Parts: sequence; C-alpha cells; structure tokens
Amino acid sequence: MTSVLVVGSINMDLVVTASQFPRPGETLCGSHFATFPGGKGANQAVAAARLGASVTMLGCVGDDSFGQNLLAGLQAENIDTQWISRIPGTPTGVASITVCEAENAITVIPGANHALSVEHIAQADAAFAATDVVLAQLETPLPTILAAAQRARLHGKPFILNPAPAVVLPQELLDLVSLLTPNQHELATALDVSGDDWRAQLASLPGRVVMTLGKEGAAYITPTGQIIEQAGFTVRAIDTTGAGDTFNGALAAFWRQGPAAALRLACAAGALSVTRAGAQSGMPTLAELTRFLE
Ligand code: ATP
Repeated sequence: MTSVLVVGSINMDLVVTASQFPRPGETLCGSHFATFPGGKGANQAVAAARLGASVTMLGCVGDDSFGQNLLAGLQAENIDTQWISRIPGTPTGVASITVCEAENAITVIPGANHALSVEHIAQADAAFAATDVVLAQLETPLPTILAAAQRARLHGKPFILNPAPAVVLPQELLDLVSLLTPNQHELATALDVSGDDWRAQLASLPGRVVMTLGKEGAAYITPTGQIIEQAGFTVRAIDTTGAGDTFNGALAAFWRQGPAAALRLACAAGALSVTRAGAQSGMPTLAELTRFLE
C-alpha cells in the first residue's frame, strides 16, 4: 500500500441553485441549497484513499462547524487528520457557488487554508519522513508549498505538484518538483509560455510532467524525451467536476507502479468520476476501478 501525504486546501462548497443570478442589491428566492466537502487538497486525499492508499492530510480548517464536519468526513474516508490544524477565529475555507442552468458564479474564501504556514510544514516533519509520496496543489500559500517541496526533498520523497489554480511557478519551486500534473492551460501558465504546442512545453521538463487532456486522456514525457500517451476511456460523462482531483489522487496512489501503469489507472479513475455527479461523491473505490478495467 502506497502512503501519500497530501498538503493542501480543505473547503466546504455551499451550492445554491436558482433560476437566475441576483443583480447587485437584489434578493431572489432560489430552488435548492446543499453543502459538499471540497478543496483540491481534500478532494485529492479522498481520491487516493478510496483507491487504497494510506493517506495523511496536512492542512488547516477553522474552529467552526464546517471545520468539524470536514474533519469527520476525512476521518470517515480513513484519512489520517492528525496534521490538520484548527485555526481559532478564522473561518474554514468555503466556496460559495450559485448555479443557474448551465452557468455558475463562484466566490472562494480561502479562510483557514491561507493560515497553512511554513511552521506547520516544519512541525509535520515526521509525516514527510513516513510517507512514500507528497502531493500538493496551489490553493494554499506559495511559500508553504515551497517549504513542503523542500521538506520532501530533504527526506528524498517524490513531490507531485498539481499546479491548480494556474499561476506562474517560481523556478525555485519548479526545480524541486518531481512531477508536475497540469492540464494544458496550467502547463502554459506554470511555465509562463504561450501557444498550443503542449508537446514542446512537455519537452522542457523531461521525466517530470504528466499532462491531463480531458476526455483525450493524459500524456507523460520520459526522462529521455519520449511521450507516453494514454488515451481517455470512453464513458458517458454526466459531471466533470473533480475529474482532475480524482486523476491526481489516483496518480499519487499508483505512481510507484511506474508511469505507464499509473497513467492508465489514473485515466480510468478520472473517467469513472465523470460518470457520476459531484466531486468527492463521484470518486471511485479500488473495487470499482478494478471492475471497470476487467
Ligand atoms: P477539472 O475540471 O477537474 O479541473 P482538469 O482540467 O484538471 O479537470 P481533466 O484533464 O479535465 O483535468 O481531467 C482529468 C482526467 O480525467 C483526464 O486526464 C481524463 O483521464 C479523465 N477525464 C476527464 N474528462 C473525461 C471524459 N469526459 N471522459 C473520459 N475521461 C475523462
């Protein structure tokens, strides 16, 4: 069993469904309200745990009921939450999402996610020492991510970075990344280059990029510059929310099986996730993944 340490965000998604978006100053009556656990970090932790990895999460929630509920949810997925700090006087991260027909409007309040500090990384040294793989995203402060990458390097552990949401990555961080897992837009932004030639962009980091290509699957560039492409699995897509998070959790869980096998399993997990509604609710278990590939 691979152990994965996820360093990242933990959010509660607050989803309102309405027949129109309110204009400034207007109050409207919507039709539905629901809360869903989210945040790229927590989502990827759940994806890896469902697929059989032994997962530890390093992050922050507020000292409020959302934080309490999210911790309980992670524990119910068998995720070790001992390194999740509860930050007094700070709200748990939320995403306020209004859905209107096929469109949505989202406001993210990072809250406690922005309290994840370089000190938290140093305090969790034992978690870095104990894990096989470290997996991070960019919804927590960049200096913290850099500290996590340095600590992973210190312990000789692979550092997988899903560079989402897209930002230009400092070279210092890029140098410490064992594997970058962008989609096409995130790769161009991370490398601060323009254009659609993703093969050329991949070539700038041989052996260190897996790029996701939506329903087309994913591609990896070997250390010698050969591109391994895994075609997407044909499925009936219902909701693509969380496909990237499922892919990343799966990739970390299976990375030790080698790039080709990990790519195939992560693409299959991503495909399965789009056949069901929701982010965490759509993530497959190892048994479901195995059955899908039989
Ligand atoms: P997200 O919308 O979650 O941010 P992303 O852009 O990070 O997604 P995608 O490339 O859309 O990531 O999806 C991740 C993986 O999930 C893909 O590499 C692919 O294997 C799988 N996948 C996504 N959409 C589909 C689909 N419609 N059919 C089959 N597989 C899919």
